Amino acid sequence: MQSQMIEISCPKCKRTQIIDLAKEDMPKCDTCAIRMVVKEVLREGKAC
Ligand SMILES: [Zn+2]
Repeated sequence: MQSQMIEISCPKCKRTQIIDLAKEDMPKCDTCAIRMVVKEVLREGKAC
């Protein structure tokens, strides 16, 4: 399974977090309890 690293941020408090979307669901902000949004899609080089 390929990992899909993304940077997510909370639209309210602007807190950012990096998760592996292949393994984790889109989390909610611990502080605001609202759904975080994708800020940037990251790539881990080229996985062979
Ligand atoms: Zn927040």
